[in-house]
Amino acid sequence: MLTKEDIRTHIAAFIGEKNMHTKQEDLVCYTYNAGGAAPSAFLPILVALPITAEEVSKIVGFCNEHKISVVTRSQGSGLSVNAITESDYSIIISLQRMNSITVEPEILMAVVGPGAITADIKKAAAAHSLMYPPDPASFTFSSIGGNVATDAGGLQCVKYGTTKSCVTGMQVVLASGEIIRAGGKCIKDVTGYNLTQLFTGSEGTLGVITEITLKLIPLPQAKRAMRVAFNNIENAAKAVSAIMTSGVVPSIMEFQEQTLIRAVEDYTHAGLPVDAGAMLLIEVDGDVSTLKPQVEVIRRVCEQLGMVDFHVAETAEEAEQLWVARRSGLPALARVAKGRLGGDPAVPINKLAQAVHMLFEVGKKHGIKVSCQGHAGDGNIHPHFFFNSDEEKKTAAKARSEFHYEIIKMGGTVSAEHGVGREKAPYITKQLGEAQVGAMRAIKKALDPNNILNPGCIFGGQA
Ligand SMILES: Cc1cc2nc3c(=O)[nH]c(=O)nc-3n(C[C@H](O)[C@H](O)[C@H](O)COP(=O)(O)OP(=O)(O)OC[C@H]3O[C@@H](n4cnc5c(N)ncnc54)[C@H](O)[C@@H]3O)c2cc1C
Repeated sequence: MLTKEDIRTHIAAFIGEKNMHTKQEDLVCYTYNAGGAAPSAFLPILVALPITAEEVSKIVGFCNEHKISVVTRSQGSGLSVNAITESDYSIIISLQRMNSITVEPEILMAVVGPGAITADIKKAAAAHSLMYPPDPASFTFSSIGGNVATDAGGLQCVKYGTTKSCVTGMQVVLASGEIIRAGGKCIKDVTGYNLTQLFTGSEGTLGVITEITLKLIPLPQAKRAMRVAFNNIENAAKAVSAIMTSGVVPSIMEFQEQTLIRAVEDYTHAGLPVDAGAMLLIEVDGDVSTLKPQVEVIRRVCEQLGMVDFHVAETAEEAEQLWVARRSGLPALARVAKGRLGGDPAVPINKLAQAVHMLFEVGKKHGIKVSCQGHAGDGNIHPHFFFNSDEEKKTAAKARSEFHYEIIKMGGTVSAEHGVGREKAPYITKQLGEAQVGAMRAIKKALDPNNILNPGCIFGGQA
């Protein structure tokens, strides 16, 4: 077994000492993920900051030979504890420096480095009147590599799909250190298994993604945002299903429950309806002439389901204020209680009301405060289980676990967009069954026989 000093010397030879972190105060920063989960108990030996796929290949091949764990990480904004080390014989590869963006407007594609920030890709595409639609609420600070590796969702996914719907190809460094290209710039491509989609959402457990090809679409001509208030969350949830089956395809359909509306209003002063039990934030886009009729259909559907307020944003600035309010959910909730456990389950859209009702039942049963928001049009709920003490945190964890099992019973999924990480590993067999998890483990073993890539992520301790 190589000493840590040997490992530092070898990796410095591949990328240069200045492109590595080895000091304790730097390494500690990489023991955290977003979302308030406890940090890893282990410091990585080093953090490597390569700039080319060849450098990544040398590092990963070397680690495979010496059975050193490799955790790929970009911005560390993952919410399922997906990018931390689980032993002190491990390194982190940070791809933040691999952040190139090249837009190819003539083929409606962009080729990007995994470290590129999603908002920068959107800006680069917009400069050519094109759109990269996926927009996780973290898009101003999360990276495209992290988005692809978690198949991130977001507000506009209800119309345009999650990250996977835009990924047509990628370059990947395998555990062996070999570099492959899966997919490419062809819109249609069925030669062999679809490895592009296999690596998408694989959370750093199957390979290191070093370049991504993305499909772009023309920017919609215009859009209109609105907020609709309801007395209670059940009616709001029923309205979601009714709107989605009305013939209109909203480009955004979000919901927030009262605790959240009040916390966000307190934080952003966006003029939200604080007396409402729940609120939908909706956007439609397309040709200018189509917007008014779409808004009218939504208004009629919501009227039938007991809406108490319907407000259409008059200006682009007012609309932007609504989306800032939506994206401020998590920071605003920090004021509600000392701590919070979250999640990202989803159910078929006609079961949204039932799932929300179940959340409040579970909260009541365990005597803890709960709330929720979510990408309603996708049936994707972000539940919040609040706590103010260590004891209450244990109760919140029990309540969340019970809620996850209820979601599975409803035919839902425990993770719609943040990934399984380490947090949801205990639920995958219940949701997917032994045979399916067995097939996934076989894929992992074939691609990473020494289990060096992000061990513990997705499968827990038993990959
Ligand atoms: C305030 C807030 C709001 C959020 N909103 C949303 C939302 O609306 N929708 C949503 O889906 N998520 C959301 N997230 C979660 C998070 O931003 C996403 O999961 C994002 O995709 C992670 O990107 P990252 O660059 O931070 O990746 P990291 O956290 O660094 O990594 C995430 C995972 O991807 C793997 N990985 C990263 N880069 C690579 C690579 N190049 N090759 C292989 N594996 C890699 C890591 O090993 C890890 O498993 C939110 C987070 C916060 C803090």
